[in-house]
Amino acid sequence: MIDLETIGLETQTRPVAIGAGLQVGGEAIVLMCGPCSVESYEQTHAVAAAVHQAGIRVLRGGAFKPRTSPHSFQGLGEEGLKILRAVADEFSLLVISEALGIEELELVANYADIIQIGSRNMQHFPLLWAVGEMDKPVLLKRGFMSTLHEWLAAAEHIVSRGNEKIILCERGIRGFDSATRNVLDTTTIALVKQMAHFPVIADPSHATGRRDLVLPAARASLAAGADGLLVEFHPDPDAALSDGDQSLPLSMLPVLAEQSRLIAKAVGRSL
Ligand code: PEP
Ligand code: MN
Repeated sequence: MIDLETIGLETQTRPVAIGAGLQVGGEAIVLMCGPCSVESYEQTHAVAAAVHQAGIRVLRGGAFKPRTSPHSFQGLGEEGLKILRAVADEFSLLVISEALGIEELELVANYADIIQIGSRNMQHFPLLWAVGEMDKPVLLKRGFMSTLHEWLAAAEHIVSRGNEKIILCERGIRGFDSATRNVLDTTTIALVKQMAHFPVIADPSHATGRRDLVLPAARASLAAGADGLLVEFHPDPDAALSDGDQSLPLSMLPVLAEQSRLIAKAVGRSL
């Protein structure tokens, strides 16, 4: 067997502290779960309660949504951030939410513990520089048409302004087959772990676009070395205002947690 350490390929991941004694990129994997979009207090509260019940510590939820069509639901904006923070505080959860532009960066930072930069914004350099000026963990999603080199260069743009608290997120790249929404690039998860010191998590929801494939893709990502997962859940997925097809019902939260624990154990890690 080739010993990556002796041939100089193995890069030690530098964990990123995200608050409440939690870090991404350490021995324990981290699950971040919640709705694609914050739709209402009731919806987000139901998800947060189930997330907490499953022993998961980070709540995801979009308040500013990068929708392909301008006619789709665009998110609740600050109202959504307020809901997210309130329910997260009730259950002692951390919050991750996306900032679409520089204009709302401060606003998102006021409510969220981790700022998400979306796939469509991976090369929005002024946004990368602005988030680089902040002292806040950043989740940098891979552009769905971006190479590994471009992705790491985008991370360097953030680092160039001083912020090294970067978590990368593989969320699927565009392929030729419309059977799935994207192609989950598990190979690159493993490769990034060799090439860069940033923690890497995977988003099996956007990678597959299909509820029935989310768990297998989640398991594959952790087996490939992902430091965690970002997964979409909804109390009533078929009624979701965004990404219902790929959202799992809340009953699957303990299933995801248990399967993640088993895979983590198999690769020498924990949940
Ligand atoms: C999301 O996580 O809600 C999202 C919009 O993801 P992406 O930027 O990967 O499409
Ligand atoms: Mn989504």
